[in-house]
Amino acid sequence: DSTETACAKSGPVPSMAALDTLGGVCMASVTIDDVRKSYGAVEVLHGVNVDIEEGQFVVLVGPSGCGKSTLLRMLAGLEHITSGRILIGDRVVNDLPPKDRDIAMVFQNYALYPHLTVAENMGFSLKLAGQSRARIAEQVRPAAEILGLAHLLDRYPRMLSGGQRQRVAMGRAIVRNPQVFLFDEPLSNLDAKLRVTMRTEIKNLHQRLRTTTVYVTHDQIEAMTMADKIVVMHDGRVEQVGAPLELYDRPANLFVAGFIGSPAMSMVKGRLAEDGQFLAADGTRLPVGDTGRARAGQPLVYGVRPEAMRLGGTIPLAVEVTEPTGAETYVVGTLGGTEITGVFRDRVAVPPGGVLDIGIDPGAVHLFDEGTGQRLTA
Ligand code: ADP
Ligand code: MG
Repeated sequence: DSTETACAKSGPVPSMAALDTLGGVCMASVTIDDVRKSYGAVEVLHGVNVDIEEGQFVVLVGPSGCGKSTLLRMLAGLEHITSGRILIGDRVVNDLPPKDRDIAMVFQNYALYPHLTVAENMGFSLKLAGQSRARIAEQVRPAAEILGLAHLLDRYPRMLSGGQRQRVAMGRAIVRNPQVFLFDEPLSNLDAKLRVTMRTEIKNLHQRLRTTTVYVTHDQIEAMTMADKIVVMHDGRVEQVGAPLELYDRPANLFVAGFIGSPAMSMVKGRLAEDGQFLAADGTRLPVGDTGRARAGQPLVYGVRPEAMRLGGTIPLAVEVTEPTGAETYVVGTLGGTEITGVFRDRVAVPPGGVLDIGIDPGAVHLFDEGTGQRLTA
């Protein structure tokens, strides 16, 4: 584990020549146009639209079962598309077999051949394609160099750590020099520390290769830290598409608001009062900036990010638990009848059962319609 981290940090920087040998920049746009998928009578994807630009790193994120893998497997050609179209570049690929799509997929369970060395695993698809040994070695070497595997080419998978195996799986995809990389939860089998290292490695790799990438994960932190563009999915539908901070700052609905961000956005039910302030169900008054499309009397959800709260103010937070991390303090407590979490840069000395007076930046408040879940503030 510690060797992994050290190795990743001091990994060899590939020469530009290595990148040139791999075929240089190779990428395509991907268009998902009103795609539906049914298994028998059950529809699991209900009309998905996503535009992915050349060279973009797009993350499909959502809870387990929302349809991420199904969508990715349809991009790869491993699942039939019930209706709609998928384009790679300007070519409709609906009926194209996987091998003709110019894509390479990396799975969660690596799927390395145990009886083949690292070099043989990485070159396997080239061998199948009938390329000469010399040509295969020419392709494998720069990919191994990029991934810091050059000294491990003669090893077998069982002689590698989890992170190294994951790198071999990526190497196998890289040597094919595809127009699109597809990743399905590639880091799920790694421990927490290694996941963080590999996340940086994959992002770094994309910045060098610039190959269009579609990356599936259920982990919103992975999505936030890696993506150029995030597609939030839920129950077979796209909830919102945007840059990570766009989703964080302006979630389109309660699902996205609750899914993106950790600790989660605090949400309090209530209505707007006559004076434009928010009146929580238990009578607590909370400040609001621009009320957007919210109307007086409409059932609302008041959303505030943990870091938009500060110490000192007139809002009573009934403290249940304080969690000092050193740099910040997490305070879990009750506000407006709801359990919420605030994150403060200060050290907080209020005991459980005490009251912490806090302030909320009115400009950082989000309002949602309680019934439809839609965002009402700008
Ligand atoms: P995710 O990758 O987001 O966890 P999946 O794409 O694997 O979700 O699954 C989406 C939905 O489709 C789930 O409800 C799952 O049970 C269903 N599903 C996936 N594969 C099949 C299949 N071969 N037959 C029937 N239902 C399936
Ligand atoms: Mg999946």
